[in-house]
Amino acid sequence: MDHVMPLLESYASIFEIEQIGESELGQGIPMIKIGHGEKVVLAWSQMHGNESTTTKALFDFFKFCAQKDYFEAEISEFLATYSFYVIPILNPDGAKAYTRENLNGIDLNRDAQQQSQMESKALAAMFDKIKPGLCLNLHDQRTIYGAAEGKTATVSFLSPAANESRAMTPNREVAMLHIARLANMLNNYIPGMIGRYDDSFNANCVGDTFQMAGIPTVLFEAGHATADYQRSETRAYIFYSFLELFGITKTGSSEVTVDDYYKIPKNTTNFKDFILRNVCVNGALDPCDIAVQYEEVLEDEAISFVPKIDFIGDLSTYFGHKEKDGNGLIVLVNSQVNVEIGVKVSKILAKDTHSTVFFTV
Ligand SMILES: [Zn+2]
Repeated sequence: MDHVMPLLESYASIFEIEQIGESELGQGIPMIKIGHGEKVVLAWSQMHGNESTTTKALFDFFKFCAQKDYFEAEISEFLATYSFYVIPILNPDGAKAYTRENLNGIDLNRDAQQQSQMESKALAAMFDKIKPGLCLNLHDQRTIYGAAEGKTATVSFLSPAANESRAMTPNREVAMLHIARLANMLNNYIPGMIGRYDDSFNANCVGDTFQMAGIPTVLFEAGHATADYQRSETRAYIFYSFLELFGITKTGSSEVTVDDYYKIPKNTTNFKDFILRNVCVNGALDPCDIAVQYEEVLEDEAISFVPKIDFIGDLSTYFGHKEKDGNGLIVLVNSQVNVEIGVKVSKILAKDTHSTVFFTV
């Protein structure tokens, strides 16, 4: 939040900025309004404090709307057509501590009915006040998700269900058509790497609650692209999505149907950060596979990626963002013969030929 406020205030002369509430810790929750048109759109990002890719993409969008060198006519039309209300960081306490949950350990995306937290109340009050015609629920997803066969889910979407039966409602359909159009555009850049989230209904989730209230709501999940752990590529794809959504670009087909939405591959949990296949560990004679996952840790105000053993066994149905073949060799993890789940990894090498290093930080 300390980084975001000065940046946000730099737009105070051209866009409207107000504080819509406070976090549980007493930090202000700012909102920025861009445009003055009749179509009202409400977006919120970092409801989960450690998910900042979409926030960065929003600031790219603000910067784009403030410049006058490119797309001037399209931007003017956007500003005249839309009133885009954006809450860049709904969970400033979680953002500060780099946690998904807020100060009280509550997942705000499970608090939509109860509204027990200040942040939930602030969002619900804005929803009631501005009466949006479209909502954008902006998140990051972990690196574990795949989309089409063997492809990473770099951007995923969902038009949440509006009831237990997951029946089609007019607003669900509107959200699906927006998503189909965005997926069509993104397929030019990341073919097969766009995923569709499972739509099981949970009224405690904000998107489901807003859909239940009859307002089309699009869930964005910024994901991983190969080797891009800083997510700068994905940040660009989310930015392109905003341009397309608001008609500033018209890259994708406008002739989309609900079928096109359902044709988007389902998000599947089938990726690991690193897979070392075909190695022997823990004294076993039969080779197995080892997975390493990076855990994001906040250290001295910076995020570091700490590799940990995530799985030992058969990973034949999984893909690694990076993979190596161990050729059936016995390996040592951190110089140890025995290895277990959760161990922080500094080095994996072949026991007999110490020169063969499979993984190192
Ligand atoms: Zn999230």
